[in-house]
Amino acid sequence: MPCHPDAMGTPSDRAPLAERVEELLAGGGPLAIVAAGDPVLRRGTEPYDGQLAPALLARFVEALRVTMRAAPGVGLAAPQVGVELRIAVIEDLTPVPEEVRQARGRVPQPFRVLVNPAYEPVGGTRVAFFEGCLSVPGWQAVVARPAEVRLTGQDEHGHALDEVFTGWPARIVQHETDHLDGVLYLDRAESRSLSSNQAVTERWAQPTPEEAARALGFELP
Ligand code: ZN
Repeated sequence: MPCHPDAMGTPSDRAPLAERVEELLAGGGPLAIVAAGDPVLRRGTEPYDGQLAPALLARFVEALRVTMRAAPGVGLAAPQVGVELRIAVIEDLTPVPEEVRQARGRVPQPFRVLVNPAYEPVGGTRVAFFEGCLSVPGWQAVVARPAEVRLTGQDEHGHALDEVFTGWPARIVQHETDHLDGVLYLDRAESRSLSSNQAVTERWAQPTPEEAARALGFELP
């Protein structure tokens, strides 16, 4: 049964997941990214447990990678392409100035697939930086997050994942895992920090958001 966006009601109304993913991938190329306001970003996801056969899972992961790179972005979660599965991809090879690398811990993050990820903070340190989301295009806001997290789950081959992430990669894995729980970064953001991409480029490109905090009137950890 074809999946029409206007026919997407409760899960039981919809075609089986694998069928819908097949359909989604039929067009080839980057997938359409769902924008905030679509309930699929709020419903949460089901754990991956073989709903997609290995070949289809591999094709889906590849489509997530192509879509993330085309956007471009440093992470993409399955619900952002309309699929309620606990799967995300991350990759950050963006060259950044040395002072930004130092201040934000923005070190290169190679491509990774996160299957059924969950995270918990390591230590009590929180750090705040501007952050954006492909599902909230045009805007960024400051989010305070644990500086270091322990991420558990699996990779795309089913191998166990248990790893500590720090710096910008820690921010990316938190942001993407949150998507899988129906949480957007705006839920955690300092609302007074909300800035257009243009404002961030023109005013708040400093390595840290201290100047923005003073000028816009929000708290930092
Ligand atoms: Zn996002």
